[in-house]
Amino acid sequence: MGTPILSNWILGLLGLIVLSAVFVLVAAVLSAWKDQHSPGWRCYRRDFFLSVWWQWQYGPSGIIRDLRPFCPSCDEEIEIDYDGTLRQLSLQCKTCSRRFGPFETSSGSLKRVITRFIDQKLRDGSWPVAADEPSSSRHLTSGRV
Ligand SMILES: [Zn+2]
Repeated sequence: MGTPILSNWILGLLGLIVLSAVFVLVAAVLSAWKDQHSPGWRCYRRDFFLSVWWQWQYGPSGIIRDLRPFCPSCDEEIEIDYDGTLRQLSLQCKTCSRRFGPFETSSGSLKRVITRFIDQKLRDGSWPVAADEPSSSRHLTSGRV
């Protein structure tokens, strides 16, 4: 009595596994095709967000990593300062002492926000323009101190 139900269940499970394998394969082929047809996007590794220049690298699968802020005045790398609450941070250039922020976010989520901006530009294809022309319209909720 129970056997047909069990084998149906196993068939369904196998079907699911095969379907997800096919999906992963199609996604991999599509992404390889996309890479081949837009090889230039890996050159997009610098942009201007939240009054600061950001530079980053791409991992093997195109994931944005090693995201670092740079000073627009002297082009030195900026260190991220916490004000103690861990919910607010500001960026300060150690070379010219220029400060940026405060941003009401933690270091991790600030980088997530910037990564989202980059991802968005990569998706909608607006990145080549942005690499030449700073997009100053991006703002986090700033304390305006
Ligand atoms: Zn500076």
